Amino acid sequence: MRYISTRGGIAPIAFDQAVMMGLARDGGLLLPERLPSIEPALLNAWQTLSYQNLALEVLSLFTGDLPRADLDDLIDRAYSSFRHPQVTPLRITGDGLYILELFHGPTLAFKDIALQLLGNLFEYELKKSGGFMNIIGATSGDTGSAAIYGVRGRKGINIFILHPHGRTSPIQALQMTTVTDANVFNIAVRGTFDDAQAIVKTLFSDLAFKDKYQLGAINSINWARVLAQVVYYVFAFLKLRKSGVDSVDFSVPTGNFGDIFAGYVAKRLLPEGCINRLILATNANDILSRFVNQGEYSIAGEVVPTSSPSMDIQIASNFERYLYYLLHEDGSSVKAEMESFAATGRMDLARFQEQVQRDFAARAVSEEETIATIRQVYEEYDYLIDPHTAVGVKAAQELKQDRPVVCLATAHPAKFGEAVQKAIGKDVELPPVLAGLSKLESRCSVMDADVEQIRAYVQQHALLG
Ligand SMILES: *Cc1c(COP(=O)(O)O)cnc(C)c1O
Repeated sequence: MRYISTRGGIAPIAFDQAVMMGLARDGGLLLPERLPSIEPALLNAWQTLSYQNLALEVLSLFTGDLPRADLDDLIDRAYSSFRHPQVTPLRITGDGLYILELFHGPTLAFKDIALQLLGNLFEYELKKSGGFMNIIGATSGDTGSAAIYGVRGRKGINIFILHPHGRTSPIQALQMTTVTDANVFNIAVRGTFDDAQAIVKTLFSDLAFKDKYQLGAINSINWARVLAQVVYYVFAFLKLRKSGVDSVDFSVPTGNFGDIFAGYVAKRLLPEGCINRLILATNANDILSRFVNQGEYSIAGEVVPTSSPSMDIQIASNFERYLYYLLHEDGSSVKAEMESFAATGRMDLARFQEQVQRDFAARAVSEEETIATIRQVYEEYDYLIDPHTAVGVKAAQELKQDRPVVCLATAHPAKFGEAVQKAIGKDVELPPVLAGLSKLESRCSVMDADVEQIRAYVQQHALLG
């Protein structure tokens, strides 16, 4: 399997190059040359596999000539850090709603699933090539700690993570800043997540800088992250299939369109109809739900802070991947649309609405609804969800049709204790990994949202040769 850019400007490259490149050199995002699909006959065999063995089957459809034994080893090491033997267990709540728990990794959020694998992949590739890399990423909260845990202490890798100062939850900030390994650099930017992300994008777009420091991406534009997430959609579907279900919807709390795009790849991978629709759930930052419901992808005002901060985004960085399929895999159309979007802040896609609404249903969920949903699920099912998960559950309740819906539980409720407290009137008991954080030493540089200042900081602390 080889990889191309959504903007059509690079010659096809191998999987390992795609992983190391992150953003394509023409400014586009990397995608497989063609999306694989599997035969219905395979499902019976696949539905008895462990998470790790299923991951091996799914990933090997995309990883080209990476030796199977090496991939097997990488997967085993990535998921040995998870606290649950099934990695992503499926819970039944009731009324046809299921919860897929994606938060059993080291930082208690779903991004561990991708980043534990990516950290291992980076180390593997660098060992093979004798190279080094400097990872730079922006986070609205969870990506940062999951990325840091993915590469802390690894040889040949330094990591710089920018987060919006004071806009993550206190625990999210501590999860990052208490990792004091010598290869970890936390930068708190005075600004929003989008400011931080724009700085990262600017650094990556400077190709001389990118080459000299071997910049690596770890945010959700890295193809390997999307790929790792495809697995749990297939895993959850197969679990339900084993109990006689032949078609499901997934409800996905969405920010950067990464997780839900993985769902789209899973939908294309599985036989027609297995995954019927993806329910796209946003908070008040609703660019994506407006796109699905109104056919226009357009920036509206400032980022609104909510109780689900990992979804407080203005522009969804993975949206371009879906756009590529909407525009019939034509890189030059994608390039033109993205350039016009950069200039005007809007993209009219109403002509694709029928297709879009076959793939997705969408709803924006308000703060009041989010808190009320945490309370309702707790009272009715004696099960505690975090505010991101609640956004997805509320959208599922509103948009559910006559088939089961699997709601992705993207974070442990204790990570967002304030919102949960507000909903149920009780403090959430902190799991031991979180309870000890405030006593640990921490390290972080607070800086203005100024690209030159941050470039200088990176130069000063980066690995070189
Ligand atoms: C990142 C994140 C999301 C959104 O995922 P995207 O891939 O950006 O759509 C949802 N919930 C939590 C807890 C997250 O950390």
